[in-house]
Amino acid sequence: MKQLQDRILKDGKVKGTSVLMVDSFLNHQVDASLTRQMAEAFHQYFSHKGVNKILTIEASGIAIATFVAEVFQCPMVFAKKNSRQNLPDHVYTSKVESFTHGKVYDVLVAKDFLSPDDRILIIDDFLANGAALRGLISMVEDAHATLVGVGIAIEKAFQSGGETLRQEGIDIYSLARIASMSEETGVVFAPELPTTAKTP
Ligand code: 5GP
Repeated sequence: MKQLQDRILKDGKVKGTSVLMVDSFLNHQVDASLTRQMAEAFHQYFSHKGVNKILTIEASGIAIATFVAEVFQCPMVFAKKNSRQNLPDHVYTSKVESFTHGKVYDVLVAKDFLSPDDRILIIDDFLANGAALRGLISMVEDAHATLVGVGIAIEKAFQSGGETLRQEGIDIYSLARIASMSEETGVVFAPELPTTAKTP
């Protein structure tokens, strides 16, 4: 998506070789107009798939996922990071290793908000090694819901998550795919993905 790529080139800040900071428009301050355009791009790709719920993970997925839910006219649920010692039994849980902090934490979704009738589109801001997605997917499976696909704002295609999950058959649509990046060279994008999803 050209508007997102242009914004990354203008305002993104590369840290080392593997972290891109997009705090000025996505992860701290949010550009609502750009986020709405992103939501519409996800809708264009997944509109024929009968999506009836959006699932993301707190915190930075929430802004995009809310816009996506508005465009799809369906609820948005975000997995919460658990801070309690004992997990209650009315929740689905999963463990996620944080890419940015390196720690493993539990995420949870109340069983009330995921059901076998749900056709779920997972939305997140970044895809790196795929740990956050795997945590969300495992809760979708525990709920016997249907995973329709995954929408990602920024995929770091030089990390393994996207390729591995696609090989497992998951339909991942990323709006900007980074082929490589460094503080010296900046961001280099991979070719854009086709803008229509495979038929079910
Ligand atoms: P993964 O679980 O795929 O390894 O990493 C994805 C999660 O880590 C995302 O939910 C995102 O919050 C965070 N993340 C991964 N890479 C980056 C990055 O380069 N920049 C930022 N800001 N967050 C990232």
